[in-house]
Amino acid sequence: MTERVLIIGAGFGGLTCATKLAKKGNVDVTIVDRHPYQLFAPLLYQVATGGLPEDDIAYPVRAAIPGVDFVRGDVVKVSLDAKNIRLEDGRVLYFDQLVFAVGSEGTTFGVPGVAENALQMKNIREARAIKNQLLQTYEDVEMGAKPKEALRVVVVGGGPTGVEITGAVSELQRSMLREFPHIANEASVTLVEAGPRLLLSFHEKSSAHAKTELEQLGAVVKIDSAVDRMYPTDVHLKSGEVLPAGTIIWAAGVAAPKQWSILGETDRANRLKVSDTLQIDDNVWVLGDMAHVVDQGGNPLPMVASVAMQQGRYVAASIEKQLRGEKIEPFKYKDKGQMATIGRRRAVVELPNGMRLHGTTAWLSWLGLHVFYLAGGRNRVSVIADWFWNYVAWGIGPRRTVID
Ligand SMILES: Cc1cc2nc3c(=O)[nH]c(=O)nc-3n(C[C@H](O)[C@H](O)[C@H](O)COP(=O)(O)OP(=O)(O)OC[C@H]3O[C@@H](n4cnc5c(N)ncnc54)[C@H](O)[C@@H]3O)c2cc1C
Repeated sequence: MTERVLIIGAGFGGLTCATKLAKKGNVDVTIVDRHPYQLFAPLLYQVATGGLPEDDIAYPVRAAIPGVDFVRGDVVKVSLDAKNIRLEDGRVLYFDQLVFAVGSEGTTFGVPGVAENALQMKNIREARAIKNQLLQTYEDVEMGAKPKEALRVVVVGGGPTGVEITGAVSELQRSMLREFPHIANEASVTLVEAGPRLLLSFHEKSSAHAKTELEQLGAVVKIDSAVDRMYPTDVHLKSGEVLPAGTIIWAAGVAAPKQWSILGETDRANRLKVSDTLQIDDNVWVLGDMAHVVDQGGNPLPMVASVAMQQGRYVAASIEKQLRGEKIEPFKYKDKGQMATIGRRRAVVELPNGMRLHGTTAWLSWLGLHVFYLAGGRNRVSVIADWFWNYVAWGIGPRRTVID
């Protein structure tokens, strides 16, 4: 009987693995996901600020890979002994090899008030909620339904996601001046980071550059400022300072879903500790944001798309090797560098050879790389067209939404 490979998660890691396995054509591959699309999370902040429509960053996965079956469903139980998984609606699927690639989710780190008062940005629904709130607030203030203070935005978390959304909110606020000339000047965005600098994983010079660029865009950046608690209209810092806010965006980190800790030992981010071949069992592979893997220096690999994709390719090749009875070499991550965009012609890029790029060159590299990795020809063309339009129509408003 043909080997049945079941992949949970049609994200960066799961889809890469399925694509590579499908090319060989000697195993039966099924992908299970609760959504019928692959989310391109790196561009979520553009949906949240009206720069791109949702469709552009969601790639339909049904029938996307010839020869691979897709089952839509929420996996609620994994039985390693019985070699099956159970979906929320009661269906049971059996496997010979399981690839576990369920990604991560937002975490509040237990800070009081975050879950109730802050908007997170981990999926399309949340990005849509941010966009609606940002834009609706202008309408409400203009119509006198809310005070002008409601136009203040506080972003928590100075990693790439926090920096990117802060830059995009600043640009959105600028572009609103034309439509709401009487109130838009009251808008502000403050980025709050608990650590000593923004973009902690980057070189200090890139961090300083990102801070300066955000300030040039009009954002206020507060470092060494841990959040103590938050309420619907303000954020309280540990220093005692209180930041009034009409919209609070929490971009302070992600963790793997806690429910899967039952499958093995986990780290502080709920990631499953795997062997150097990404296994927790002979026939169970874990990859991407869900896997705790260390580099040669003993540091955990970051939760980023390039790690998940490299691991997806590696697991597919390893399954093939296992079937042929060959030895599987440990997984080795090839560092591809890192990048974050800040705004129009503003970005920081760090290459593995130590080279650092800023400004227009970095921004163009960022645009090119994101289009390259975006799944689907339609989405690529659509994103390029939207970006081009946003660029030339600057100030007229890149946003798109219907506010009733
Ligand atoms: C806002 C944001 C910005 C980011 N920006 C960048 C960036 O610029 N560069 C970068 O490299 N990385 C970025 N990342 C991180 C990157 O998106 C992740 O590292 C990457 O998606 C991890 O891939 P994965 O395959 O492990 O999981 P994912 O791509 O998240 O895929 C997991 C899949 O599993 C599915 N799933 C989860 N649980 C279940 C279940 N129980 N049942 C069924 N299906 C399930 C989900 O629906 C999802 O489709 C960003 C992440 C976010 C949230």
